[in-house]
Amino acid sequence: MAGNWKMYKTPADTTAFFDKFRPLTEKSEHCEIVICPPFTSLSAAVDAVKGSAIRIGAQNIAWAREGAFTGEISGPMIAAAGATHAIIGHSERRQYFGETDETVLKRTQAALEFGISPIVCVGERLEERESGNTEAVLVRQFLKGIAGLTEQQFAKIVIAYEPVWAIGTGKTATPEIAADAHRVIRAQVREKYGKEGAEAIRILYGGSVKPDNTKSLMAQPEIDGVLVGGASLDPVSFASIINF
Ligand code: PEP
Repeated sequence: MAGNWKMYKTPADTTAFFDKFRPLTEKSEHCEIVICPPFTSLSAAVDAVKGSAIRIGAQNIAWAREGAFTGEISGPMIAAAGATHAIIGHSERRQYFGETDETVLKRTQAALEFGISPIVCVGERLEERESGNTEAVLVRQFLKGIAGLTEQQFAKIVIAYEPVWAIGTGKTATPEIAADAHRVIRAQVREKYGKEGAEAIRILYGGSVKPDNTKSLMAQPEIDGVLVGGASLDPVSFASIINF
């Protein structure tokens, strides 16, 4: 169960969040919990979760170790802050910051090289769904953005299916629509990494997940977890999603 805080919460907001969130999730041992604050709040988050099973992730990661890449943050920097995960290829990065399938692959390879667990996002835009291209888009994103990983690398990633039309819009994909997309992705995984890879890969659903729709989404065997934006900003709401 992963939370993406997007560009919200200062270090002080982060500490206040975890003061409320930790008691609500200390018995939530059925899942892995990862929260991804902005870079400037990573250290505060890492401090605030000490002694718990909660893990902290970044929202992006550079493809190089260091260098002349103004505005980027590298894997060793993220690891030094105490974070263990990174979201890669979020649709907001693709839409506003020129992220492509190729850069998603480079960032994913770099994350793995520096010991950071990638949560790789894929998903179609509304016009792609409406023109019947959902499957083609998911296949392209997989082939260009993920299939360049070796089997050993692939075993360490998590995929998040996030239909762009459902992100921050209040329009959740129905559990059936989400499960269909997960099946398309898993079929690609099977073709490239075999039956075992397809069974082991965790595919999260993301897009307007809220406390009241989590149970029906999670009832789909294809859906292994959720990536939550807006509803992860509130400790009570994210805890109730986790404890669905
Ligand atoms: C996200 O940011 O990854 C996301 C799914 O956002 P929201 O839950 O707000 O739709």
